[in-house]
Amino acid sequence: MNAPSPAQDTAPMPPLARHLIEAGDHFIGRLQQGQRLRIVDLEGNQAADTLFYNACDVAERYSAVDTVREQGSLYLTTGSVLRSTLNRPMLRIVDDSCGRHDTLGGACSSESNTVRYALDRRHMHSCRDNWMLAIAHHPEYGLTKRDIGHNINFFMNVPVTPEGGLDFAEGISGPGKYVELVSEMDVVVLISNCPQLNNPCSGFDPTPIELLIWRH
Ligand SMILES: [Zn+2]
Repeated sequence: MNAPSPAQDTAPMPPLARHLIEAGDHFIGRLQQGQRLRIVDLEGNQAADTLFYNACDVAERYSAVDTVREQGSLYLTTGSVLRSTLNRPMLRIVDDSCGRHDTLGGACSSESNTVRYALDRRHMHSCRDNWMLAIAHHPEYGLTKRDIGHNINFFMNVPVTPEGGLDFAEGISGPGKYVELVSEMDVVVLISNCPQLNNPCSGFDPTPIELLIWRH
């Protein structure tokens, strides 16, 4: 694997924090209202399976259904407002050099590995396992497995066919592409940098992503 390319070139000012998330690894952290989060697809065609929670009450969390309905569109990109289960704005996508992100396809799990691929893939590492590991290692966020819901797959390409089907297609992202969000409330961010080896969305080769956070 190549060394991850630094994202400094695209950063307009020094960030408050930056985190490299290795291929197949996870991240959990807090983002304050008004802070900016940029997720960088360092090598391209990676999927960042992401969940957001209201940091003050994690029972309120990202809702794909409310987001899709209110924006009247299936894909997420610049201008998309990510809505909560109470239909409140959580974050807003303010910049997007990839162009489109999926919120329909869901995350990989040991169960989906067996259904989509083969029975002998059950043991393979999955996004659901990654999230579970993150919340088990960080009980301070107050999350349990009941809080794992539907998610956003940043950089993942799941086009809807004319017949209304979902197609897990080859990625449309590329090295250094990023998506940038501004938080509309204090949120907990939970990311699985997808370890999936069976899905063309990540080119069958999971790679690192980077998070950059600015105060405003
Ligand atoms: Zn995954």
